[in-house]
Amino acid sequence: MTKLFGVLGFPISHSRSPAMHNAALRAMGIDGMYVPLAIPPERVPQLVEALRALGVQGVNVTLPLKTLIMPLLDELTPAARAVAAVNTVIARDGKLIGDNTDAEGLSRSLLAENVVLEGANVVVLGAGGAARATAYGLALAGASRIAIAARKPAEAERLVRELAPSCSNSALRAFALAPSDDFKHELSRATLLVQSTSATLETSPESTAAARAFAASLPLDELPAHATVVDLVYKPLETTVLARAQSRGLKTVDGLGMLLHQGALAFERWTGLPAPLEVMRRALTD
Ligand code: NDP
Repeated sequence: MTKLFGVLGFPISHSRSPAMHNAALRAMGIDGMYVPLAIPPERVPQLVEALRALGVQGVNVTLPLKTLIMPLLDELTPAARAVAAVNTVIARDGKLIGDNTDAEGLSRSLLAENVVLEGANVVVLGAGGAARATAYGLALAGASRIAIAARKPAEAERLVRELAPSCSNSALRAFALAPSDDFKHELSRATLLVQSTSATLETSPESTAAARAFAASLPLDELPAHATVVDLVYKPLETTVLARAQSRGLKTVDGLGMLLHQGALAFERWTGLPAPLEVMRRALTD
């Protein structure tokens, strides 16, 4: 019988996940289909019942449903609990299990680019969902220090407080994303800077101008020459922050790797098979 997979979101037409996962299913010879499902938030309880009734094997979950779906599932993995969001649901033994592959997806993508995570000294920009997954993933991967900078410092403090129990091997610190000596000092000792805000998204002339202003406001000159700069935003792939880091000769990593590896981990958990990474990467970039 054809196996069913999908991605839930609202809206969902922009998602590249169907192309990536259908290519993977074909490449691995699996009789399966992965469909985009636009689900308004108020219909999520019915949708979860439909997943059970249809015997769907697994789904991805994106905005704005990542937290909404959590109480409707039978179990949550430690990653989903720590990140406080579900991006992957796995159907197993009659249960729907909520997981989060964003955190491990990011660390896998960085390891694939030979970025050293063990003992890393990390600065994370932002305190939203992506920043939370970043801090958790990098703590798990062995970062020794993680400093979270947000324009609302109280949000960074909340993140540090909430992540502390699951990230006890790393020293966590919150500070203000603002031009200050404190920020410069954090950057001067960083081995890895992860831009996890949405400020570098460019979807209109206004957002492009705002992204330029955001990049110009960051004291990137303070970063050591051996630091790596990552931007999770992948629209565009070369963001204003990555362009500035490259002009300084720093190593940079774009957001496509995290997108690819979170999908690859979901595929592996649903099928028990290794993900065909190159096929999936091509489907994302075509
Ligand atoms: P959220 O809306 O949860 O958080 C956005 C964060 O960005 C908030 O902390 C917000 O601060 C901050 N922010 C926005 N604009 C600015 C600004 N001008 N200056 C400083 N801070 C700002 O979004 P997510 O965390 O889910 O996603 C963030 C980005 O990461 C998205 O654009 C998305 O494209 C990308 N992403 C990429 C993934 C990948 O696989 N590569 C996976 C997930 C996300 P405030 O609260 O003050 O508004």
